[in-house]
This record gives sequence, C-alpha cells and structure tokens, in this order.
Amino acid sequence: MSYQRVLMAIDLTEESSQVADRAVALCRATNAQLSLIHVIEPLSFAYGGDVPMDLSTIQEQLDQHAQERLTEFAAGLGIPVQQQYVLTGHTESEIHRIAKQDDIDLVIVGSHGRHGLALLLGSTANGVLHGASCDVLAVRVHSE
Ligand code: AMP
Repeated sequence: MSYQRVLMAIDLTEESSQVADRAVALCRATNAQLSLIHVIEPLSFAYGGDVPMDLSTIQEQLDQHAQERLTEFAAGLGIPVQQQYVLTGHTESEIHRIAKQDDIDLVIVGSHGRHGLALLLGSTANGVLHGASCDVLAVRVHSE
C-alpha cells in the first residue's frame, strides 16, 4: 500500500526545509498529495492571565507573519492554497484533527532525536505520534 494523502507539519524554522525535502521526495515517489500545516499556539496558552496587558495586537501580528511565511514556503513547494493550513490552538491536537478530517494516511514531522531530560519533557514528534490515527514519519533534523 502506498501513501495517498500526506500531511507535513512545519514549525517555520530554517529546519523546515529538511523535513520538506524528505516529504516532497516521498510524495513524488508514491504520487501522493502533500498538505502543509503550521499551528500557532496562542500567547494566552503560555502567559494566561499572568501578563497585565492586552496581547491581542501582538497575537494578530504573529498570526499574520506566520500566514505570510507559510504561504511563501508552500509556494516554493508548489502546494496549492487548499492544501495549506495555518491554525490556532494546541499543535498536536490540530495536527490530529486535520489528519482525521482530510483522511491523511501519513503525517511527517521533524525530530531532533533528543535524549535525557529533553526526551522526558517530550517533543512535538512524540506528541503527534501518541494519539495519531495514521502512520507518522519523524524526519531527523540537524541544526545548521
Ligand atoms: P519540536 O519538537 O518542537 O522541536 O518540533 C519538531 C517538529 O514538530 C517540527 O519539525 C515540526 O514538524 C513539528 N512542529 C513543531 N511545532 C510546530 C507547529 N507550531 N506547527 C506545526 N508543526 C510543528
């Protein structure tokens, strides 16, 4: 069985291109459709009521910036707009939700191959693997 619908999760760091190289090659080889997702975790998740100021303007700027960068990244890969997602929420939950919604059969994430305490604290790749209803490919990324 070959993959038909692949979802690549990117954090928009410079390491995203390493994940994309692998995803594009795999989709070409299997003739699969590639979608792209970036999740914005709201500032309120991190700061809650701890910051005595209105974060909405900063949040809007962050959202807009992420949208622009994802559009640019997707254009470089030739991914059409209907296969691009910029969503707000909890990263792993949003990836799982879109994977189910779009009947995705493979999710691709980057992995730093952490060990020790960092592994215990968890990573996005771990979080995506747990609770995924389809296969997950963790592409080992290297800091440049
Ligand atoms: P991390 O464990 O946070 O270093 O991230 C490893 C991988 O998880 C990245 O290479 C992406 O594939 C994915 N990822 C992390 N953060 C996000 C995000 N905000 N939106 C989508 N994917 C993400």
